[in-house]
Amino acid sequence: MKTAIVVGSGAGGATVARELQGAFQVTVVEAGTAFKPFTGNLHVYEKLRRGTGLFANEKRIEWLIPAMRTRATQDGMVIVRGVCHGGSTTLSTGTASRQDRELNEIGIDLDTEFLELAREIPINTDHEATWHTPTQEAFSICREMGLEPQPTPKMLRRVRCVECGRCILGCAHGAKWDSREFLNEAIENGAELASGHRVREVVIEDGRAIGVLATSGRRTRLFNADLVVLAAGGLGTPVVLQQSGIECDNSLFVDPVFCVATRWEKAMQNREIPMPFMVQQEHFMMSPYFDFLSFFFNPAWRYPAADIFSLMIKLADTSSGSASPKGVRKPLLDIDRARLEEAVNICKDILHRMGTRETDIFLGTLNAGHPGGTLPLTERESQTLHRTSLPDNLYVADASLLPRSLGNPPILTIMALAKKVSKACLEHAG
Ligand SMILES: Cc1cc2nc3c(=O)[nH]c(=O)nc-3n(C[C@H](O)[C@H](O)[C@H](O)COP(=O)(O)OP(=O)(O)OC[C@H]3O[C@@H](n4cnc5c(N)ncnc54)[C@H](O)[C@@H]3O)c2cc1C
Ligand code: SF4
Repeated sequence: MKTAIVVGSGAGGATVARELQGAFQVTVVEAGTAFKPFTGNLHVYEKLRRGTGLFANEKRIEWLIPAMRTRATQDGMVIVRGVCHGGSTTLSTGTASRQDRELNEIGIDLDTEFLELAREIPINTDHEATWHTPTQEAFSICREMGLEPQPTPKMLRRVRCVECGRCILGCAHGAKWDSREFLNEAIENGAELASGHRVREVVIEDGRAIGVLATSGRRTRLFNADLVVLAAGGLGTPVVLQQSGIECDNSLFVDPVFCVATRWEKAMQNREIPMPFMVQQEHFMMSPYFDFLSFFFNPAWRYPAADIFSLMIKLADTSSGSASPKGVRKPLLDIDRARLEEAVNICKDILHRMGTRETDIFLGTLNAGHPGGTLPLTERESQTLHRTSLPDNLYVADASLLPRSLGNPPILTIMALAKKVSKACLEHAG
């Protein structure tokens, strides 16, 4: 049987591994190790927030969840990703949003793939009965303002969900779906997992990929294969490619997240399904969201967790950054800042209509968790899903392929695209 290496086990990698195992003998090479959700008593950590130095900067979040890695850009934006089995999907809010307009515009039709995913993943919008009072009020006000709020589809098994609100700290109840489920299916079907192996480069000989070089501790190992699929995520894949001598575009987007919050006694938003509804605007979306990152690390979030109500803005940012072995560069352009300001004003308007005074409003830490776009697909690749700058038997199947920022949760779309890439790989292998 032919062999395939899949690098990464997040949204893209786990999907490809599941699709290819059987036709290929697949080995998933994953930098991280098994994911552990945070199961400690958050109330204890809440008390330690101030004055102990324990939460001096966002990097310390790794003390709570080792898989959650952060890095700050020059502008102070904190970029978050998951390095573990399941990648960033383990940290997700479980939001399942179909966002393929840009892909459609360049001739990529993912209807079949979305239909397959709808059969394979538990997707649930029936959670309105669990919303707390401020969320219900915000929903009604958004409706009155003509913002057309919609309950959010969630990758969720409702019967197992205890509405603890900790989705981004990992679900300890097996309720939230993440890509470890696809990874496990691939393994049950015979795929191998090389855990804790960070891929440095793709080894290319005579124009063909012959495998990948990966390090684990002090050891370096060559994994040989007939086919290599990179899915190390929007920050990982461009680094591996550049270390293999293949250029990427300076078109990184990250979907910046910014929260507008207020003191609201017993809002209990910290114990509610995150992002219960969404409001879509042209360049951003908004949703109720308790931001743990701001809560632990931003001094403006000084109230008890139970007494904060917050609205999140997710911006579709300009493709203006880069991810390279030297680091991540992601400046926010003036147009991005102007759009962010427009969104902040709408959020404030919603909070004011809910009865909040301007002086009770405080802002969150600018952060981001949807990096991608450095190997964007264009019309030219709409049939092959393969860039000509890559060797014939080297594919990419993660957020790096997205043509533009979605300004929206991308997991479902990345997985649909990864399924399509898998089909292209199978066709190519004949
Ligand atoms: C806090 C948070 C909440 C989010 N919530 C949502 C949500 O509700 N809905 C949604 O749609 N999206 C959400 N996202 C975004 C979503 O998780 C990511 O956009 C998506 O998982 C990206 O998929 P990917 O395959 O590109 O990369 P990832 O899922 O990040 O997978 C990359 C994998 O590659 C591995 N890797 C990296 N470098 C290497 C290397 N050199 N060698 C080997 N392995 C490597 C990583 O460990 C990881 O397993 C959220 C993100 C964050 C951070
Ligand atoms: S809210 Fe539900 S899905 Fe989210 S972590 Fe808690 S139990 Fe899991």
